[in-house]
Amino acid sequence: MEKSTDLIKIKGIGPGRIKHFARLGLFSLQDLASFLPRSYLDYSRPVKICDAEDGETAAIRALFIGPVKTFRAKSGLTVTNVSIGDETGNITAAWFNQPYISRSVPSEAGGYALGTVDRRNGARLLRASFSKELPGIIPVYPLTSGLTQSVVRNAVRAALDICLDSVSETLPEQIRAEYGLIPLKTAMETVHFPKNAQELAAARRRLAFEDAAVLTIVLEKLRQNKKAQKGISFNTSGILDDFLKLLPFEPTSAQYSVMNEIALDMASPQPMSRLIQGDVGSGKTALALYAMFIAAKNGAQSVLMAPTEILAEQHYIQLKRFFGERAAILKGHMSAPVKRQVLKGIADGSIIAVTGTHALIEGKVEFKRLGLVITDEQHRFGVRQRAEIGKKAESPDTIIMSATPIPRTLSLILYGDLDVSLVKGMPPGRKPVTTRLVPGEKRIAMYRYIENKIKSERIQCYVVCPMIEENDDLERVRSAETLFEELKSNLSVRVALVHGRLKSAEKDAVMEAFRTGETDILVSTTVIEVGVDVPNACVMVIESAERFGLAQLHQLRGRVGRGDKQSECYLLTESRSKSSVSRLKTLTETSDGFEIAEKDLEARGPGELIGMRQHGISEFGAAALASDIETLKQARDCARKLLAMPPEKSERLIEKAMRKYERSLEDIVIN
Ligand code: ADP
Ligand code: MG
Repeated sequence: MEKSTDLIKIKGIGPGRIKHFARLGLFSLQDLASFLPRSYLDYSRPVKICDAEDGETAAIRALFIGPVKTFRAKSGLTVTNVSIGDETGNITAAWFNQPYISRSVPSEAGGYALGTVDRRNGARLLRASFSKELPGIIPVYPLTSGLTQSVVRNAVRAALDICLDSVSETLPEQIRAEYGLIPLKTAMETVHFPKNAQELAAARRRLAFEDAAVLTIVLEKLRQNKKAQKGISFNTSGILDDFLKLLPFEPTSAQYSVMNEIALDMASPQPMSRLIQGDVGSGKTALALYAMFIAAKNGAQSVLMAPTEILAEQHYIQLKRFFGERAAILKGHMSAPVKRQVLKGIADGSIIAVTGTHALIEGKVEFKRLGLVITDEQHRFGVRQRAEIGKKAESPDTIIMSATPIPRTLSLILYGDLDVSLVKGMPPGRKPVTTRLVPGEKRIAMYRYIENKIKSERIQCYVVCPMIEENDDLERVRSAETLFEELKSNLSVRVALVHGRLKSAEKDAVMEAFRTGETDILVSTTVIEVGVDVPNACVMVIESAERFGLAQLHQLRGRVGRGDKQSECYLLTESRSKSSVSRLKTLTETSDGFEIAEKDLEARGPGELIGMRQHGISEFGAAALASDIETLKQARDCARKLLAMPPEKSERLIEKAMRKYERSLEDIVIN
């Protein structure tokens, strides 16, 4: 169904552009007015050449401009160069394959050169542009093909002009004064068009605060709502021993302590809502099985929802160990009679434990007596899904298992409606993956080394790229397609390619060929992050590693190190930025997911952490832009305070919260 749109009201937006905006999820003037810049180019202050750091966006006062030179480099690229100087030194502006650019270089000194400092055989300003005046702070929006920054910027400006008047303030004056927050309306405008860095910071703080407060209210309501429901009080005594007899290993102390929390929750008459966080490989499945075992002993059914069919298959093997004939799986490719049989068994209660993908189980399956719902690898599901899962039966207990370690402070906000358990450490015997940083100039040698290793040791290798196709914006990031071609023609091993745009049957075929060892190197985007288990694949290369979050790199790395061979992970980066390199170094130094998540939070701020990035920033809204966790904490405390105040103080914010999460909150009673 086409969504209706009122963007046509904006001058310069016709039916063609409307389609492009729709691809960004922008349908209404409201959407546009709250569409946030992805980043900013700060050209509000001139930077001296000697102070301009690699990777930094800089406006350089050009006191000297040399002659423009255009030549063809050995690589075949046409290079256009011009030297720029100030009183502290010189820097070269360079463009590739854009000879026409020379026309825009001013002939005399004066004005500013604007661009991002990069280093290639010496310091340069890459793709600089020139301007007479300092342009201030320029918002940079997420784009899609067919749109340019200036089209989006003008559209946002127009949408704000129409919408701002009707925005009402959500926070009482007194609260704003207490937390030092600017008015909402001002923030909404300034976040796009700030005059200086302080203004921008104030606007971002206000919006982040707003969104975190909204989210807190929603989760607080969810929590209250759940606690008010009546759940099943399971009998848990004597069950542990029976469970341990069937478990093929002795639980670690971390597992024991979470099992204890689960048993206490299940025994309580309030419904359990627990998030279990633990690194990939930390042994969460056994915890799920324990909870399912308790439910089964009490005659209640349980489901274990997996993010992929492959993982569901793996879970099914475990379920059979514990529940034998009374275990079942629901799959996409199942013959109709078998499927009917399974559904019948679930409906009449002869099946006690079932697994399958989220999509297959949610909504459609009738249970005789559902007592427990477990969702595996939750980091892909948002607040919305959390609310819906709970609606399945009367009030089943719920467990969500996540392999994304989220720092405690942040999980208190994102998962304010849940109790959180941590599985610290790893089961015995797991060897940490040897991780190394590889600079660009070593990449050929590295691939040669891997080629030899594949030939001599018959191991397999993953190569992960940040993008599927080439993108002009990021000239030095190799796409999965380019790299696939490159490796295929240069290495004498079998190379395959998989990415999210393949049809799922094609994807499965490529994955299956890799799993059975028919291919040696699998080039992919991050689709392999979840659900792949190929013990023979013990080498991983991550291209343009600086483009990933640490938590995500850590997760990707978790795909190797599953067999008995020592595993290796190579983080390739051409970035020389000190902060990128030191961030990536963290991974070479530790394999503790929580420590890594904390470092990520420190280095990049909450918005960049994996979960939110992947949902887009929609769920967390502007909070994704907050650079500090302190603001989020204050917002949470403030929201709780507001909820305790007379309703007229908080009604605007609550109203907003409810609108935003409308679908998930149908059954939450407000007042
Ligand atoms: P994840 O937390 O990623 O879901 P799994 O539950 O799949 O991890 O466990 C990873 C591997 O470790 C599995 O092969 C599992 O059998 C094994 N394992 C889990 N707990 C222990 C333990 N206490 N002792 C030995 N092996 C264990
Ligand atoms: Mg798992």
